[in-house]
Amino acid sequence: MTTAVPTVRLNNGVDIPQLGFGVFQIRPRDTVEAVSAALQIGYRHIDTAEMYGNEKEVGQAIARSGIDRSEVFVTSKLNNNNHTFDQALRAFDQTLTALDMEQIDLFIIHWPLPTVSNFVERWKALERVYGEGRARSIGVSNFEDHHLQRLLAETEIVPAVNQIEVHPYFAQNDLLAFDAEHGIATEAWAPLVQGAVLDDQTVLDLAQAYGKTAAQVVLRWHLQRGSIVFPKSVTPARIRENFEIFDFELSDADMKRISALDRNGRTGPEPDTFDYVPS
Ligand code: NAD
Repeated sequence: MTTAVPTVRLNNGVDIPQLGFGVFQIRPRDTVEAVSAALQIGYRHIDTAEMYGNEKEVGQAIARSGIDRSEVFVTSKLNNNNHTFDQALRAFDQTLTALDMEQIDLFIIHWPLPTVSNFVERWKALERVYGEGRARSIGVSNFEDHHLQRLLAETEIVPAVNQIEVHPYFAQNDLLAFDAEHGIATEAWAPLVQGAVLDDQTVLDLAQAYGKTAAQVVLRWHLQRGSIVFPKSVTPARIRENFEIFDFELSDADMKRISALDRNGRTGPEPDTFDYVPS
């Protein structure tokens, strides 16, 4: 029997499974196998990006799974080298071609890019493909509140999601509150701090108390905060473990114990200075 993963209703009425499978740093040659394993276990939400170089393999795994395309929620992201409106439209076409799909469920701007500083122009390209029905929803990633304020002031469509670094060491309380206040769902990337939170003593103590693993406890903390998560792994046993988080609930007191680990511990780039543009 497949576990029913709860969904989050986005601000345009589209439902997204709250738990997905992320494929950052999965080599293209390992991607079909990893995504196939995830689909087999029951995941119905895959998070990829043009920058990850494995969109094609994600599409292949979904096509080969025999699962109806409409049952799998697929996200990809606009890479940082597509600055103009036309480049963004072209990049979107390339993503659909790589995935071999006619429509994507969610397409997002990967980074705001302070030097280029034209995410409004890029957003207008996403509004276009949304209007054409080729993206069922559109969103942003690594946007701070001031980036979002600008989009809200200068464009038509409120992003459906903001995909940002969030985990027990970097809880992002203010940005989560800002997103919620504006009807924007938060997607938490690096939900397990790429594994670094899994030997934290507080987390290990809770894992023992609940009879679950450290990863399951941390993922549960994210779900109970309302965030959407898509942990990455290439190990089938871990992919399964990360899926088995719907049979227990953390108490309010234990949620607070995990939240108290917050230490402004960003591990990834800082959105206000990160300017990486692939050649
Ligand atoms: P993550 O926190 O999901 O950590 C993944 C790592 O944790 C794995 O490589 C593995 O070492 C370990 N791990 C996973 N499950 C485990 C388990 N059950 N037991 C023990 N160890 C386990 O980090 P991530 O991959 O960086 O983030 C998740 C997804 O978020 C990515 O795959 C990608 O889709 C997305 N992401 C987006 C951005 C962005 O800028 N938008 C940036 C990074 C990641």
